[in-house]
Amino acid sequence: ALELVDIHKSYGTLEVLKGVSLSAGDGEVISILGSSGSGKSTLLRCINLLERPSKGRIIISGEELALESGKDGDLKASNSRQLERMRSEIGFVFQNFNLWPHKSIIDNIIEAPTQVLKLSRDEAIARAEKLLERVGLYDKRNVYPANLSGGQQQRIAIARALAMEPRVLLFDEPTSALDPELVNEVLAVMRSLAEEGRTMLIVTHEMRFAREVSNKVVFLHQGNIEESGTPEEVFDRPTSPRVRDFMASHH
Ligand code: ATP
Ligand code: MG
Repeated sequence: ALELVDIHKSYGTLEVLKGVSLSAGDGEVISILGSSGSGKSTLLRCINLLERPSKGRIIISGEELALESGKDGDLKASNSRQLERMRSEIGFVFQNFNLWPHKSIIDNIIEAPTQVLKLSRDEAIARAEKLLERVGLYDKRNVYPANLSGGQQQRIAIARALAMEPRVLLFDEPTSALDPELVNEVLAVMRSLAEEGRTMLIVTHEMRFAREVSNKVVFLHQGNIEESGTPEEVFDRPTSPRVRDFMASHH
C-alpha cells in the first residue's frame, strides 16, 4: 500500500503541488490524469524523493519515510539507509525507458538486484530470465538497448523494475514516447501486472486503458486534485467542468 499525505512542492515561487493526498491499497491501481504542467510527474517523483517535497508525508506498506527540513526549505530523508531501502521497494518506469545504453539487456536487469539487494549473479540472472520470458523478450537477453524497438525497451524497463520485487510500481507516461503500433504491447504487460494484484500508480493519456485497469482515477489540475473517484465516476459523470472538457478532448 502507498499513502501520500498533503504533498507540497514549489520551485522558487512556483507552487507546483499544493497539498495532494492519495492512497492506494494493496493491489489497487490508480491512474493520474491531468493536462500538461498540472504536476503529475512531480508528484510521482516526490514519492521516491527524485524531487524533494516542501511538505508532506510518504508511507509505504505502513512505514513512513522519515523526513526533515533541508537548508533550502525542501524536505530531505533523515535516514539515508531507510531512503535507499524504501526506494528499492518502489519500481519506477519512465517515459523514455532510461535503460543503460552500454549494458546488455540482462546486465540492465541484474544491476540493481546484485548491487542493492546483493543477490548473487546467478540468482539475479535466473530472476531476470523469468522476467524476460514474462515480457516476451527472452531471446533479446544479450543484445543492447539500441537494438530494440521502443516498445521492447519499455518492456525491458518494466522487467528491470520487477526484478527488485517492488511493493509499488510507478509509471510516468510509459507509452507516450512510442509509435502508436508499439503502445499495445506495453499496455498488455501493464494490464497483466494490474490483474495479478500489483499496487500501481500510472500517469497516462491512454484513457481507455486507464478506465479498464484502474480502481481509482485522480485528476490533477494546477497542483491540486480536481476530481477523483472510480473510473465510472470520473469518466462518465465528472462534476468538474474542467474534467469534462479534458475528457471530451482526449478520447
Ligand atoms: P506533462 O503532462 O507535460 O508531463 P506534468 O503534469 O507531468 O506535465 P510536471 O512535469 O510535474 O507536470 O510539472 C509541473 C510544473 O512544474 C510545470 O509548470 C513545470 O514547468 C514545473 N517544473 C517541473 N520541474 C521543474 C524544475 N526542475 N524546475 C522548475 N520548474 C519545474
Ligand atoms: Mg509529466
